[in-house]
Amino acid sequence: MARKLRREEDKTIGLVPTMGALHEGHLSLVREARRMCDVVVVSVFVNPAQFGPGEDFARYPRDLTNDTTKLSDYNVDYIFAPPVEEIYPKGFSTYVSVDGLSEPLEGAARPGHFRGVATVLTVLFNSIRPDFAFFGQKDAQQTLVVRRLVRDLAFDIEVVVLPTVREQSGLALSSRNAYLSAEDRRAAAVLYRALSQAREVYMEGERSPKRLAETVRAQIESEPRARLEYVGVADAETMEKLDRVHEDRPVLIALAAHFGGTRLIDNIILQPARPKSRATGRLASPGEG
Ligand code: AMP
Repeated sequence: MARKLRREEDKTIGLVPTMGALHEGHLSLVREARRMCDVVVVSVFVNPAQFGPGEDFARYPRDLTNDTTKLSDYNVDYIFAPPVEEIYPKGFSTYVSVDGLSEPLEGAARPGHFRGVATVLTVLFNSIRPDFAFFGQKDAQQTLVVRRLVRDLAFDIEVVVLPTVREQSGLALSSRNAYLSAEDRRAAAVLYRALSQAREVYMEGERSPKRLAETVRAQIESEPRARLEYVGVADAETMEKLDRVHEDRPVLIALAAHFGGTRLIDNIILQPARPKSRATGRLASPGEG
């Protein structure tokens, strides 16, 4: 569909892949796609291949009517919401695995998850042929997996990653927040408080991944409604486990935690402070992801 448009009119195509139940996090990607591209395609597909047995595939929130209403403010050109058999026809048997990057943290917690993600994105990229594809930093490891997929399989696509959109409380927006009770939603703000506290101790000079992780763990364990599944500290570009945080490389702190029956993930990236700028004499402050 969109491919034909581009061939005829040489337009740039931006793809925003989502699983629907759209919120401001998704819409921030759509806005940027609209700003950068001539044609904007939003895919809405709850991808069975990225859910493990016992996960929430069946009950994942689906509301295409509401999603379409939300997107109507953004002048989106196409909403691509295929049925499962269109992406995975009978006899489908080809899967894409991004080794290495997919293995730690979220990959270890959800075996097969990134294989499902890489496979569906390959199908979407080949069907839609976007020039740009938009992803959120909220899924930090996914952004690395996607960049590697695009590079290794020679997709002619620029991957654009945008910051995590948060509620005032710091809670990262997520379609799964809809599952939370009012109390759990309040309690879940502890995740970003914990990550922010790790950033503070990092800025005070802490370079031990173990102690950074312990800072996060201690904060989360102080919230009785939270059950921490993992917190990990890794190189933000290679996902390698670190013995020590390097002064010149960004570091990712990523976690998953449960509130009642709801599993949430969050992360921050700690950027090494840039050297003193001669022009202003000020120190650049470490950024956040
Ligand atoms: P999902 O529908 O959860 O698969 O997410 C679709 C895209 O939206 C992914 O690239 C996510 O990283 C991104 N996304 C989800 N939540 C947020 C958020 N709070 N801020 C920014 N991007 C997000």
